[in-house]
Amino acid sequence: MKEGWCLRVPKTSGEEKRRELLKEGLLDTCLVPRTDGDDLLLPLREPRQGCERELFEELPERADLPRHDLIGGIAVILDPGSEGADLLLRSRPSIHTVLFPEGPVEGEFRTRRFVVAAGEPTMKTRYTEYGLRFEIDLSEAYFSPRLSGERQRVLALMDERERVLDMFAGVGPFAITLAGRAGVVYAADINPGAVSLMIENISLNRVKNVLPILADAARLAGVLPRGFDRVVMNLPFGAVKFLDTALDLCRPGGTIHLYAMVGEEGALTPILRDKGCRIIGERVVHTYSPSEWLAVYDLKVG
Ligand code: SAM
Repeated sequence: MKEGWCLRVPKTSGEEKRRELLKEGLLDTCLVPRTDGDDLLLPLREPRQGCERELFEELPERADLPRHDLIGGIAVILDPGSEGADLLLRSRPSIHTVLFPEGPVEGEFRTRRFVVAAGEPTMKTRYTEYGLRFEIDLSEAYFSPRLSGERQRVLALMDERERVLDMFAGVGPFAITLAGRAGVVYAADINPGAVSLMIENISLNRVKNVLPILADAARLAGVLPRGFDRVVMNLPFGAVKFLDTALDLCRPGGTIHLYAMVGEEGALTPILRDKGCRIIGERVVHTYSPSEWLAVYDLKVG
């Protein structure tokens, strides 16, 4: 433990104040912030008005922490067999649970089994992305924070009032983000647990133009109106199978964003061209394994 200067703030405004201090370069990032009743104690690099002296745990070097994804208050350790779940739990006051994946993302619902490596035994958390809030339950539905940049990229490409279809919407992160600029977003998923969380997230963010649909994407052409301006296909191990449906529903000149796991650049080019799509972009989103990465193909229809 080490004694240092700190600022006492109510827990409710703690995260906002932490970011403010970080931006100003005043937060001492070598010490672990801690709670005291309803307050959060934020360690400072130097004294400032209203500060006090308190004892803090010293943060382990970032390099000592296992590689992880942070989803709200849950840290998911990425490398099997990694040590340091307790260190991770103590590295930020907002982390309440550290999970170890017990297997790969699997099945039609793309969920994963986890074991609790440290902290509270829960798979539920509240996650914030660019000011939007999402209820997440990793035992019920897929979620990854790694596509946050992609959601913003697609949003920036949109015109106002577009008609959007999210064919594999999960708990709604693409649909609810794109609703900010769209006229309407139809958001389908085959997993009832995901659709139920999506409905919660629509209401949590007071979004009025997302239509959640519990359905198999293969059947959407039979029930939805045609002429979508934009279609999002985020099913990395199976989207190509549903491309005919997307092409049926998207208007000529519309755009499809197809996410696929590939092992070589241009792997899908022949099949996409065969279907009559013009590839206007192919980018790496993130690596998946030493020989595979998640790619996004931006396609113009017709
Ligand atoms: N777009 C969401 C996101 O970014 O978090 C979820 C993406 S997740 C990789 C794929 C989703 O597709 C899962 O929620 C799964 O339940 C859903 N899914 C799988 N097969 C489907 C199908 N045939 N029709 C509709 N949804 C399906």
